[in-house]
Amino acid sequence: MSGGDEAHDPSDPSDHRPGFAREDMILEATTDVHTILLARPQVASTATMDAVSGLRQSPRMLETSLKTKIMTEVDRQFDDQTKVLADLVKIPSTRFREAPAQDMMARLFKQDGLGVDRWQIKIDDLKHLPGYSPHSQDYDDAWNVVGAWRPSSPSSKNGGRSLILNGHIDVVPEGPHDMWSRPPFEPAVKDGWMYGRGAGDMKAGLILNVFALRALRALGWRPAADVYQQSVVEEECTGNGALACLQRGYRADAALIPEPSSGVLTVAQVGVMWFQVKVTGHPVHVYKADAGSNAIESAFRLIQQLRELEKKWNEKKAHDTHFHDHHHPVNFNVGKIAGGDWASSVPAWCTFDMRVGVLPSQNLKECRQEIEDLIRHAAANDPFLGNNPPTVTWEGFQAEPFVLKNHEQVRVVLAEAHKTVFGDELLDKTSTGTADNRFFGLYAGIPALVYGPQSDDIHGFDERVNLESIRKITQATALFIAEWCGLQAA
Ligand SMILES: [Zn+2]
Repeated sequence: MSGGDEAHDPSDPSDHRPGFAREDMILEATTDVHTILLARPQVASTATMDAVSGLRQSPRMLETSLKTKIMTEVDRQFDDQTKVLADLVKIPSTRFREAPAQDMMARLFKQDGLGVDRWQIKIDDLKHLPGYSPHSQDYDDAWNVVGAWRPSSPSSKNGGRSLILNGHIDVVPEGPHDMWSRPPFEPAVKDGWMYGRGAGDMKAGLILNVFALRALRALGWRPAADVYQQSVVEEECTGNGALACLQRGYRADAALIPEPSSGVLTVAQVGVMWFQVKVTGHPVHVYKADAGSNAIESAFRLIQQLRELEKKWNEKKAHDTHFHDHHHPVNFNVGKIAGGDWASSVPAWCTFDMRVGVLPSQNLKECRQEIEDLIRHAAANDPFLGNNPPTVTWEGFQAEPFVLKNHEQVRVVLAEAHKTVFGDELLDKTSTGTADNRFFGLYAGIPALVYGPQSDDIHGFDERVNLESIRKITQATALFIAEWCGLQAA
């Protein structure tokens, strides 16, 4: 069901893209990249007047007084930002239920005068692309939304570098509500933290992108280059939402993704794969259980052997440039298990779903082969499974590991913004999870920085995000946009 309180007609794609046709958009996005790459701005010491357009250009290195104004404006709007974040957290945007939350994002983009592109992602558009993760159901109600700012004067684009501000709208399942201190979709602020499923991962990031630009606008400035604010689905299970943005033609000189990172930059991350193992058994009455084969117990034995593989893969860290000093970079998780029908029958079936991490020095295809070989060998030693081998299905994440590259220029700009706000140097970190940054980096050559606020217990109970960290990351993001994209007078 396509929900939400904003009327739209899902059968009419143009209904979601007011202001421009899709073909125009792709052409423009492609052209702009070339324009900007050819016209890389020089650092100037003072504000200048654009001779062609007459537009006032911002200094390339922001003056202290302008930095102060931008940060003060973020402060001024922060109560409003907190309220808007709470409104978004109230909308339960778990998988396949994201549409109403995307309606809200589209509404925010529209309010800000951006061109809104809202489209349904389709497997047929994506399944041939590198980075696609298999998914068997259709995306009947999975919508991406992009709000696009394009400078009105083409000449003013020469003053800046284009930017994608990306975030995901999907949140992971909240689990049993009685294990939360308060209902997961009734956000509340306590001791400077906002609680709620998705508050940190990553609705705070989506909303801070909006308010970073609003702060600039309130001061009479606009980015002097294209800025695409993307709100995507599927980050938590496949990444196909971010992939759909690439497929649709969105490109920029850099991408910034405010996933919860406590103000630290992610420079390397593991790959992630999902698979399901289906184990069969031989059902007999329990009084002669020896004659049967218990599918649930067979599954447990396979899980134990997979745990041994986890140890083996962790030992490979010794040769990994980015994870050699991490205590346990590769994590296997049995996330779901089901089996059997009846307490007094030996169970005839069991399925379990697993998530595994993969080091940057490993290869997804070889890792898949290793897992299938392990299961095949384990089954061969079992009298029943030898003739009835378990099946392995690769569905969901097939996410390659990712190491940030060609990010020196953009890192300098982010580090400067970070230092202005926090007074500290920007630190790098490695991540034992995945994020959508890999799509921009691996498949489009766009340096994608994951840098966002501080959260706790994401994917757990009482997920929360620190409001002070949101305020500061919003300030740093606004300064970053101003410096990276350049500014033009509104
Ligand atoms: Zn996330």
